Amino acid sequence: MTLDEARAILPLFADGELDPARAAELEALLAASPDLRAELQRWRSLRRCVGRIVNGAPVPATLGPAVRERLGHATRRRRKRILRLVTTLTAAAAVVALGVTFWPTPTHASTPLVAADDFANVYLRCGVTMRHRGIMVPLDDPDAARRALDQREPFRVLVPNLASLGYKLDGVCGCFHAGKVRAIHVFYRKDGPTPVVISFFSVDQRVRLAGAESCPRCAMKNTSYQVAEYRKIVVCKWDEQAHSYAVCSEMPADQLRHLADEVQLALARPMIFALAHPEH
Ligand SMILES: [Zn+2]
Repeated sequence: MTLDEARAILPLFADGELDPARAAELEALLAASPDLRAELQRWRSLRRCVGRIVNGAPVPATLGPAVRERLGHATRRRRKRILRLVTTLTAAAAVVALGVTFWPTPTHASTPLVAADDFANVYLRCGVTMRHRGIMVPLDDPDAARRALDQREPFRVLVPNLASLGYKLDGVCGCFHAGKVRAIHVFYRKDGPTPVVISFFSVDQRVRLAGAESCPRCAMKNTSYQVAEYRKIVVCKWDEQAHSYAVCSEMPADQLRHLADEVQLALARPMIFALAHPEH
């Protein structure tokens, strides 16, 4: 395990979500690196801080015991969700997240349903075939692309840097429309004998994936994925607070879920960097 790999999984370690083998490997690195130990300390402090904010929500004394009990459960669930969110947020967005802890979660019935083919068609049309650039952003620099998109879109658009997986940022477009649902589509390409294209979507709200199977836990995190297929093109969707995100490609479902894990780790990295070099 390199130091960078260790940094990428520190938040999971701080949450106690790492498998024993990797935890042991990380502990060996922690023992040897005071910097890494300091970074872990910052993660733990941040988590305690978020936990205090969430658990500090006062429950009115006039509520009956049954309601108070249910609110307690909801708060514990929400705490877990928020701790997970902190892992994946970018540095700037994380500060906002602390302020919107009590963002209401949409009810199931009001969450729009989006079909796998809505994602798959954009993947085919924009990612594989046309490779057009619907929005002008710096394509060679994921961080600059993220900043440019955040400024022009009314919702948070993430642009993971997948260079470590061999994927080059290839284009960004705003073609995705399904009813009232919009998403920004970022697509990547890995060159080779059989080029691989993957699409990543930041959706402007939470959506449900029609006909999807739920995969309750994946290998890396406690993220709950919904997976659906359209003509061998697989879509893997997850939620973070008020938004949904999805990856889409023509590859076996378990391979795409693994890719989704990697995308989330890639999204977590800027946060770790920011914690290691606080600006405030
Ligand atoms: Zn497009």
